[in-house]
Amino acid sequence: MKETRVTGTVLLAATTCVCMKHARGQLLTIDVGEREYRTEDIDDVLGSYVGGRAVGTKLAYDRIPFDADPFGPENRLYLATGPFQHSTMSFTGRMSATGLSPLTDGLLSSNAGGFLSRNFTATGYGAVEVTGASDELLIVHITDEGVEFEEVPDLEGATVSETCEYVETERGLEDDHTVTIGPAGENHVRFAAIMTSRERAFGRGGLGAVLGSKHVKAITFDGDSAHEVEIPPLQMDVHREAAQSDHIMRRQGTAAMTEFANTVEALPTHYFSELSFEGAEGISGDRVEEKKYKKGTCSACAFACKLPTRDEESGLETEGPEYETVMAFGSNSGIDDIVDVMQSNKLCDELGMDTISAGDAVAAYLAAEDEFGNSELIHETVEKIAYREGVGDTLAEGVDRFHDDLGVENWTVKGLEFPAHDGRTLNGQGLAFATSNRGADHMYAEFYSLEYPLVDADQALDKEGLEGKPPKVVEKEDLNVIKDSAVLCKFSRDFVGEERLETLLDADYDDLLEIGARVVAMERHFNNQRGFDREDDSLPYDLDGFDDALSEYYDARGWNEDGTIPDDLIEADVSTAD
Ligand code: SF4
Repeated sequence: MKETRVTGTVLLAATTCVCMKHARGQLLTIDVGEREYRTEDIDDVLGSYVGGRAVGTKLAYDRIPFDADPFGPENRLYLATGPFQHSTMSFTGRMSATGLSPLTDGLLSSNAGGFLSRNFTATGYGAVEVTGASDELLIVHITDEGVEFEEVPDLEGATVSETCEYVETERGLEDDHTVTIGPAGENHVRFAAIMTSRERAFGRGGLGAVLGSKHVKAITFDGDSAHEVEIPPLQMDVHREAAQSDHIMRRQGTAAMTEFANTVEALPTHYFSELSFEGAEGISGDRVEEKKYKKGTCSACAFACKLPTRDEESGLETEGPEYETVMAFGSNSGIDDIVDVMQSNKLCDELGMDTISAGDAVAAYLAAEDEFGNSELIHETVEKIAYREGVGDTLAEGVDRFHDDLGVENWTVKGLEFPAHDGRTLNGQGLAFATSNRGADHMYAEFYSLEYPLVDADQALDKEGLEGKPPKVVEKEDLNVIKDSAVLCKFSRDFVGEERLETLLDADYDDLLEIGARVVAMERHFNNQRGFDREDDSLPYDLDGFDDALSEYYDARGWNEDGTIPDDLIEADVSTAD
């Protein structure tokens, strides 16, 4: 059924292509309620929005009703890769998912690594849109020849591994061809993840619960129809430098941050009541490295920062934990044994949940019960959340919705639980947590990387204070839209700078930032229609000069003082949605 509706269009929306390199292929729309699919040309969108997150956001902005229910059939999920997934360059084993979040209630994109991105690109589609809601639990099989709907009632409640095994046995497709949800997604846990390659997650914002609301257990991708996108030879330099790098992340992944963050007091501890943890050594990068038993990576990436880990004593195997998981299920939960964190990580992967939100929800519960450090209770609670049993049913709603019931502080921004890199120490990151349309997410602006001496000690910003930082937050947010759209891993920061990005995308840096700004504005305008304004750009703590810095941020973006998009940036436009 077609309906005509009036949408707002951000005036800055380009109609001409400023980016020579962009994703290729048609949009594949799958209505799982009607069990129908169709394709359409979206060359204008791809040409103006690069790929990945920007394309997903543009389509979502135009097609998801502003008043949609995140769990309703009218919500849509977009999956997309970008031009770099047509290359063999390092730092490109990632892709993007976009939809209306049941956790934040706003438009949100999430990004996952692994090996799916190439198999997605090989189907030949530029983007995939999932809409409607099925009566029966389904696996949707996408190939370059079309779409098949398979009813899988026996997979109800299956873990991520069990679903992957089923697809491997019945279809001969390895887990790098599959996205799946676990019991958490089926049970509408508001921070359920979409999993791929078993251990990789489109983690933030509950897009797994969106798939669950559509009764889609998994989607597979297979084909041999990737389009040609020529990426400049510079990609080989990036690849070689990644392979030769002696960066500590190649040994310890992001867990290398743990002790460093602890030293500078940016490691949330005991449900955010402290900023350093006396047991940090037990959950440090060194401890994770001791458990690493082989190299791990994402497709085409020679940097290989992933961490397949095994505890010989118990036989427990998982991947990671990453630094954020170390924080949420380690210091924030009062746990000083890396094996306990590995177990929490494994459970979240199998049950299909974001480790940051799940860990913080558990930490909030531990705070309420005065049970920090109780690993048995933690693991039991993680399972209860996924199955919505007992107190798990409450915790599955997320900290923003349950904090009053438990009598704990609301450590969220826009309903999204906090990661590490604490803004009380890294003040610019604090501002960035507040302005992020996604809520408290460190990768939205990734401002912490400027305030830690991670890139270049001489160039690191002073951690304290907000002076001069708002325009830099704007630039980082806009730049990260491009990285999420190209799609380029944020850990490429030492290898792909401004000039290289221009060369690789054959585009001017300022033009790229303008695309980024349009996407941020679209997210903001969509969320404004759902009631978001300046009050939602707030933190659960005070920062000196925060209000002035927030006004400066709005000013730099050309937005209103109340955090909304001005009318003169919006143009009434009639569009057609299915
Ligand atoms: S740097 Fe790490 S996370 Fe990024 S693509 Fe490479 S292996 Fe994956």
